[in-house]
Amino acid sequence: MTVHKYGGSSVATPERIIHVAERVKAAWQRAPVAVVVSAMGDTTDDLLGLLRQVAHDPPAREVDLLLAAGEQISAALLAAALEDRGVPARALLGWQAGFATDGVHRKARIREVDPARVQAVLAEGAVPVVAGFQGLHAGEVTTLGRGGSDTTAVALAAALGCQRCEIYSDVDGVYTADPRVVPDARRLRALSYEEMMEMAHMGAQVLQIRAVELAEARRLTIVARSTFADGPGTEIREVDPTESEMTVRGVAHDRNIAKVTIRGVPDRPGFAHRLFAALAGHGVNVDTIVQSAPRDGRSDIVFTVARDDLPRTIEVARAAAEEVGAESAAAEEDVAMVSAVGAGMVTRPGVAATMFGALAQAGVNIEAITTSEIKISCLIREADVEAAVRAVHAAFGLGHGKA
Ligand code: ADP
Ligand code: ASP
Ligand code: MG
Repeated sequence: MTVHKYGGSSVATPERIIHVAERVKAAWQRAPVAVVVSAMGDTTDDLLGLLRQVAHDPPAREVDLLLAAGEQISAALLAAALEDRGVPARALLGWQAGFATDGVHRKARIREVDPARVQAVLAEGAVPVVAGFQGLHAGEVTTLGRGGSDTTAVALAAALGCQRCEIYSDVDGVYTADPRVVPDARRLRALSYEEMMEMAHMGAQVLQIRAVELAEARRLTIVARSTFADGPGTEIREVDPTESEMTVRGVAHDRNIAKVTIRGVPDRPGFAHRLFAALAGHGVNVDTIVQSAPRDGRSDIVFTVARDDLPRTIEVARAAAEEVGAESAAAEEDVAMVSAVGAGMVTRPGVAATMFGALAQAGVNIEAITTSEIKISCLIREADVEAAVRAVHAAFGLGHGKA
């Protein structure tokens, strides 16, 4: 048996829902299948837009209740479309499908999946159509963070004992860079969990990072495929190092970041702790952190956060800066991050030089650099992001006809 997940673009219109129903029908005729769906098209963004028109700071509980409606609609529509085509089907909300989460609204983590009801539907020979992205905590509806339907699908596949989970979207796999930005990006046949997590973390939205984490923990292969074409897609699994002949496997970019600069921090122990502990206490994830060498007893700290978190972040940063007598705390939103990702790249000299050279040639200024064992990231101006991704992609020979 298999689990299929269909993302927002795959169920964006009634015609596409019918198309998905036909695909699910074909799969069901071969073997039992459970389906997970996202909200139709841009529904989640549209709902958030509606909310902004009526409230500045809506309660997280109500946000989740609202957002969960998106997946409720698509699950019901797909189940109805299946029934109409002679395929017995049952739409299930997250809680009906047994998804128990923690209580962190908008970023809930799955604690447990009780697949009993999904299994009962399967035992009847019917197709369970599960609303992705949602769960329940202490009687309250929760959602799993943007892109969370991917995680629903992997968690369901794990709970059902599947070895694979097929994730269908508008691209036929994971590419060496976002194909919308780099026209000659190539599909990768396989990618390790680690590489995919780093790509997702650095902005490649094709799979949610938690879905990949969970797949690794449960030793389950994710196959990323297109809803609109047949093909092998990309397998995310344990990859033998000899399979990844290239050092750099892909280039990711992230526009959803903001940069905070705190200037003139007195050079005494404790400030970094005070600041980042306060941010953690507010549930803000901090990414890149750079501190300058002190001059005249003061240094500057630069860090990045997700744009959504900026209002809370700047409040906390200003309070912390004031408390220790720093000179200023300021935020900028017109920044982006471009990253080169690949297992084994640390051990190869020259990777960083190639990346910086490509950016220099493209006239892109680097504002901060961070590295890990499998990636190098540069903070740049948002206006430069497309040129930067193309330049780095080309410099590592990732496009057609090369490598
Ligand atoms: P869904 O709505 O089905 O969940 P998403 O929009 O979340 O789909 O993810 C698919 C999109 O991810 C693609 O349309 C593509 O533009 C984007 N994307 C970003 N980076 C990559 C990459 N490296 N490979 C493939 N797609 C990518
Ligand atoms: N609908 C949710 C979102 O837009 C979840 C998902 O699509 O995976 O983020
Ligand atoms: Mg997605």
